[in-house]
Amino acid sequence: MTHFNYLIIGGGMTATAAVSGLREQDKTGSIGIIAAEQETAYDRPPLSKQLWSGRKQLDAIFHELPEDVTVLNGRKVEQIDPQQKQVLDDREERFTYDKLLLATGSTPRRLPFGSDNIIYYRTVSDYQQLRRLADTHNRFAVIGGGFIGSEIAAGLAMQGMQVTLIFPESAIGSRIFSAHLSNFLNDYYRQKGVEVLSETTVTDVSGSGTDLTVTLDNGRSLNVHGVVAGIGVAPNTALAEAAGLEVDNGIIVNEHLQTSNPHIYAAGDVANYPDALLRTRRRVEHEDAANSMGKAAGKAMAGASITYDYSPMFYSDLFDLGYEAVGELDSRLEMVTDWQEPYQKGIIYYLRNERVCGVLLWNTWGKVEAARSLIAEHAPLSREDLIGRLSG
Ligand code: NAP
Repeated sequence: MTHFNYLIIGGGMTATAAVSGLREQDKTGSIGIIAAEQETAYDRPPLSKQLWSGRKQLDAIFHELPEDVTVLNGRKVEQIDPQQKQVLDDREERFTYDKLLLATGSTPRRLPFGSDNIIYYRTVSDYQQLRRLADTHNRFAVIGGGFIGSEIAAGLAMQGMQVTLIFPESAIGSRIFSAHLSNFLNDYYRQKGVEVLSETTVTDVSGSGTDLTVTLDNGRSLNVHGVVAGIGVAPNTALAEAAGLEVDNGIIVNEHLQTSNPHIYAAGDVANYPDALLRTRRRVEHEDAANSMGKAAGKAMAGASITYDYSPMFYSDLFDLGYEAVGELDSRLEMVTDWQEPYQKGIIYYLRNERVCGVLLWNTWGKVEAARSLIAEHAPLSREDLIGRLSG
């Protein structure tokens, strides 16, 4: 049985960040990573952004881990025994630990049809599969109008592909953007050559190989060479639940990123943490959460007295437009819009009980910290207070 001082389940960005946090505190303790994917750790955001815009090459996305870290790829942990401080993998191998980190991430939701004909876009092998298809074929359907759908539709269109983007909501990103902004995005994508089918549901995907038929709820069908879907993810909490850890929309952690078992930590997509800035618990499925929580968890596991009091930001690229955002972006909230140039550059404030709880920095850069400080004020602010506040 192999023993690690620090054992990490999951091999994504959270794990890499945890290794860096661990090594800052403890130069010699043994570190093991058990990861289901075959590939070593890599940055996930370029898979739907820079690898398609040409601003990054595949080789550049992989992480270099210190040589003394043992990475066991292509295995799944099947069971955690918190009493024995032991895990069992799908090769029937057991590992013991002093401290364990659950960096198990999340799994794409799937449609009840289409099976292997749909690429549920998440991993580097999904990227490689789609890239191979796009090198030889040109007609694609993209299902979902959230982060993956909007970014991949733009990425494929920038490569000259014919793209049909299909989603049930009224407009792209309508969960987070105002109706005006998301309606603008529908038009913007159409101008860029994407066929946007809003308020439309896919009822079937049939065929095989590169001869696929996508059937829509309005009776129309499309013939395409490839189908990509981004219809949300679910946190991988099953191991934690089976181990008796507290789980509620993710694995519950305290401000030190400890689960209900003090020897087990959780970070990244899977962790439900107390957000000090927003004064509420939440789970964040973005790169900055993986990096910041992973690093903090690593330090905490190695004995540092840390409090995770950071509120992660997120960003996206949509053709020539881009944004950064922090806090809570929910289109059901009250919003104050401060355009410098309508839909091209500006700031949108999201308010709960008259207090700013989220800020969208649309083509506006270098203001994330200022936005965090504004949220931290927790003061009632009017439209007059906010216009020009961060844009000036
Ligand atoms: P997402 O952003 O939650 O979007 C999922 C979209 O799919 C929603 O618009 C949802 O609509 C729609 N949908 C749900 N069920 C559907 C169905 N049966 N048919 C068609 N559409 C359906 O999730 P995602 O795009 O799959 O991204 C996965 C994860 O990766 C997310 O956690 C995201 O945060 C992360 N990610 C982040 C970035 C970034 O930070 N820039 C980029 C890529 C991915 P409803 O709202 O109606 O449910």
